[in-house]
Amino acid sequence: MADPWGFLNTPRRSWPLRPVPERVADWREVHLPGGLLPIVSAQAGRCMDCGIPFCHLSCPLGNLIPDWNTLVALEDWEAASERLHATNNFPEFTGYLCPAPCESGCVLAINADPVTIKNIEAAIADQAWEHGWVRPLPPERHSGRTVAVIGSGPAGLAGAQQLTRAGHTVSVYERADRPGGLLRYGIPSFKMEKFQLDRRLDQMRAEGTVFHTGVEVGTDVDAADLLGRHDAMLLAVGAAAMRELPVPGRELAGIHQAMEYLVDANRVQQGDLSRSPLSAEGKAVVIVGGGDTGADCLGTALRQNVASVVQLDIKPEPGADRSPNEPWPVHPRIYQVSPAHEEGRQHECGRDVRQFSAATVRFEDDGRGRVKALCLTDAEAGTRRPVPGTGRSIPAQLVLLALGFSGPEHDADLVAQLGLGVTAAGTLARDPGFAAGPPGVFVAGDAGRGQSLVVWAIAEGRAAAAAADRYLNGATPLPTPITATDRPLTP
Ligand code: FAD
Repeated sequence: MADPWGFLNTPRRSWPLRPVPERVADWREVHLPGGLLPIVSAQAGRCMDCGIPFCHLSCPLGNLIPDWNTLVALEDWEAASERLHATNNFPEFTGYLCPAPCESGCVLAINADPVTIKNIEAAIADQAWEHGWVRPLPPERHSGRTVAVIGSGPAGLAGAQQLTRAGHTVSVYERADRPGGLLRYGIPSFKMEKFQLDRRLDQMRAEGTVFHTGVEVGTDVDAADLLGRHDAMLLAVGAAAMRELPVPGRELAGIHQAMEYLVDANRVQQGDLSRSPLSAEGKAVVIVGGGDTGADCLGTALRQNVASVVQLDIKPEPGADRSPNEPWPVHPRIYQVSPAHEEGRQHECGRDVRQFSAATVRFEDDGRGRVKALCLTDAEAGTRRPVPGTGRSIPAQLVLLALGFSGPEHDADLVAQLGLGVTAAGTLARDPGFAAGPPGVFVAGDAGRGQSLVVWAIAEGRAAAAAADRYLNGATPLPTPITATDRPLTP
């Protein structure tokens, strides 16, 4: 504990954001460059170095948070980087993207503002890159075993890096034209710029991991044949089956799934397209869905110069504080204003762009087969049924459906070729040790867990890599942060 009085004398301060007009005019990171380092050591000094660090329990990776908080408070950045990388392959991914369940579990959060753990993690990762402490770590000797990793999102990347470093020859197969999964084509660059992903891929290539892009396993390559050519296989194919909104008018032009929209917007940022074919420019946009994906659509639409924008959430508006059934240290659902929501409020002259308890009932046709309005009612709390007498409509020229994901896109061929099981929830069946189907096959990330978070994907990739290494060698030195049945701390 670097500063025994820190939590009493130092108020919480988060990494400042760039002014809204400046940040919606570009696609760069929303935080103020250089705004974190001057404040972060004092913030790390707020950590109480608790005897029982509940932040560990709240982090799927088991990040050694009090250890690196102390080192950051003492400005020993290199040692902090070593402690952070001991449990997390890609701390900048979580430092920039994680909703930080660790902060909900911080003991300070019982009656005060928690430590800014996520900001501290981002600062350590940034310092590590800036000072050249992130280096390729190729294995000292090769095992002679080969592993195929299918999918290159955070779960596949973490699994591939662990297995490569353990000495196996790892080939990653990715159906998209570039590796990265949702980090590449889902999450917009104003949340995490793509160079953060690219330099990790460079590190992995330098360690010996080989990437094959544009290969859909199950279609372009037979999965059983591929397994026959490798000693083990890690399936990290994500959960990209998008939920539908089966209401009258869904077939009208101008209604799209959020992921169609976000992929095109990301392709513009990657230089593949000069303009998104689904651009929100000059349009009245309604986003259906109140989660992270909806907020990402909001931030994207604002940067495309949308005319007006509304985000609908079927759930009631959460309170500002924990509800009694979400006691500390669980990660509560509370009213939060993300950077995109702050940007939306300024765009809509001070009005929150979100409407809560909103149930979409149908879409109206403009007479030419395009959507002209979205008709909705209030949704009853709990049952979510429409409340009679509350019907209204919102003009809509572009509707984005951000309703979440129901499981892996059922690549029936992949499932059949490997003889995999599918759960009632639509995920790939596996045992608590990540094993699925024939011997030597393991499942990690959203594909097995269902739609989740980057931090769970990395933790699953690490744990499934340990399981695969144990299968190949009989024992493993790789860490197993979680089992496949571990669940977040939820009420
Ligand atoms: P994915 O990232 O989905 O990667 C799976 C990969 O497998 C894809 O590249 C896919 O092309 C490939 N693939 C699939 N089938 C095949 C096949 N047959 N052959 C070859 N390749 C295949 N989480 C956070 O923590 N913070 C956030 O801010 C956040 N924002 C999000 C925003 C959006 C818009 C979305 C959709 C999700 C967000 N998430 C966020 C969730 C997070 O991105 C996912 O939980 C995480 O990416 C899951 O990782 P994964 O490796 O399991 O799968």
